[in-house]
Amino acid sequence: MVVENYKSVLKNVADTCKQSGRKESDVTLIAVSKTKPVEMIEELYSIGVRDFGENKVQELTDKYEKLPKDIRWHMIGHLQTNKVKYLIDTVYMIHSVDSYKLAEVISKEAEKKSKVIPILIEVNVAQEESKFGIQTMECEELIREIAKLPGVAVKGLMTIAPYVENGEDNRKYFRRLKQLSVDIMHKNIDNVCMDLLSMGMSGDYETAIEEGSSYVRVGTGIFGERDYTISK
Ligand SMILES: *Cc1c(COP(=O)(O)O)cnc(C)c1O
Repeated sequence: MVVENYKSVLKNVADTCKQSGRKESDVTLIAVSKTKPVEMIEELYSIGVRDFGENKVQELTDKYEKLPKDIRWHMIGHLQTNKVKYLIDTVYMIHSVDSYKLAEVISKEAEKKSKVIPILIEVNVAQEESKFGIQTMECEELIREIAKLPGVAVKGLMTIAPYVENGEDNRKYFRRLKQLSVDIMHKNIDNVCMDLLSMGMSGDYETAIEEGSSYVRVGTGIFGERDYTISK
């Protein structure tokens, strides 16, 4: 089931790329496996899937231990500074950096291991009160500060758009994130690259791709509904 779902989402990604004149290789589908068992991840791994997303440090590191080491683990959830140290050896990219303090801790922990961790800055473009992420207005200044840290490399921006029935309703937010990344790119800040946009989830990834997404994060569309009532 999960393999068929993945293939059908991947085909939608490819079709949307074609229709919007984008290269398929410029868009990566991240299978968001949070709350889902390693067996399901193994099924996808066996057909060549390597990009998986998790939103909790404990779950990500547990799965890292149990699964092949060439998986690219994307941390997409809110991150507490005291948990960063567990992530450094396991994570491929952190999509959810929303403060200088957090970036500083990631940089410090990364330096201890002589690593540079690729990060994205999470922007709350829809200005939803319930969401993490910085405000659009704060973005450039924060990036200028983070750019000076030796253990992180800013690669772009990320947003979590509101939950909507119709993905089209989020187009304005995806446009806003894209525009912000172009604006910041034009500032030519040293050590900052604005190549990547992490935006689009099960309900709106096609719209996000049309607006320039490089990472779409799809959970439900691949793994089915999540059951949070089962305790781990
Ligand atoms: C859970 C989650 C997703 C996937 O959401 P779906 O609607 O299940 O596709 C994407 N991004 C983030 C940050 C998430 O926490």
